[in-house]
Amino acid sequence: MRVVRSRAELREELAAVERPLGLVPTMGWLHDGHRALMRRARQENASAIATIFVNPRQFNEAADYQRYPRDEARDLAICEEEGLDLVFAPPVEEVYPPGFDTQVVVGALAAPLEGAARPGHFDGVATVVAILFGLVGADRAYFGQKDAQQVMVIRRMALDLAIPTEVIACPTVREADGLALSSRNVHLSPVERAAAPVLRRALTAARASWAAGERSGEALRETMRRVLGEEPLARLEYVSVADGRTLGELDRVEGPALLSLAVRFGETRLIDNEPLEPADDSG
Ligand code: AMP
Repeated sequence: MRVVRSRAELREELAAVERPLGLVPTMGWLHDGHRALMRRARQENASAIATIFVNPRQFNEAADYQRYPRDEARDLAICEEEGLDLVFAPPVEEVYPPGFDTQVVVGALAAPLEGAARPGHFDGVATVVAILFGLVGADRAYFGQKDAQQVMVIRRMALDLAIPTEVIACPTVREADGLALSSRNVHLSPVERAAAPVLRRALTAARASWAAGERSGEALRETMRRVLGEEPLARLEYVSVADGRTLGELDRVEGPALLSLAVRFGETRLIDNEPLEPADDSG
């Protein structure tokens, strides 16, 4: 496995890799969720590359960027174990060269949910992903359903900007108790960690209510609020029942929808979601 840090080295290495090429963009502190994306990239392509870059432009709070966990040696060992051919782990100035002056601004899809809670976040994400897509020229890129709005925003961006990389969403990988794996879980204290599966319980309760025939968006949101309300450490940021294509909040759930929520435990902010497809509600 080769590790490269500059645009020039990356270009050189890419000239020699076999196609098709699969890309897994990450911010490091790799866990089994990232591993699942890498495995999929590996399986479906002749070569696979991961990027490890904590992108300052997608953090709204400088403190959150500073305290984002980092351990490159461990991350590289994981990439090696997963059989990647190449890792791009650049310093900030290789991604944003001096004089950098262009931004990707995403419209309506980036406005609600995470976009509303974290102003500018998705412009930062779309900008870095557009740069990585441009640098790598992968045939396919793999993202986690854990960040459902992010995948939708990136898919839209690639379509709109005519970037030929196919965007593939992979299922959320969870701990045995239902907590979605996240690099941020490391910041949870033991009591917060024990309380955190309440996110999953809230989503599961709303899904069960929907499967039993409930179609009122507000009733489903109320179910999630009620379950989260049972956990005193959980500070609710939002619960949402949104259209699965536009992410607009729904009064009635008639087609594909996305249940999602954001909750704080102390300083740590966790998100999770559950897609609802009309075909799933019969059994
Ligand atoms: P991050 O390093 O947090 O920016 O995540 C890099 C990629 O891994 C993104 O596409 C995430 O959606 C994905 N990812 C993060 N956590 C999980 C998870 N628990 N299951 C599946 N994919 C994940």
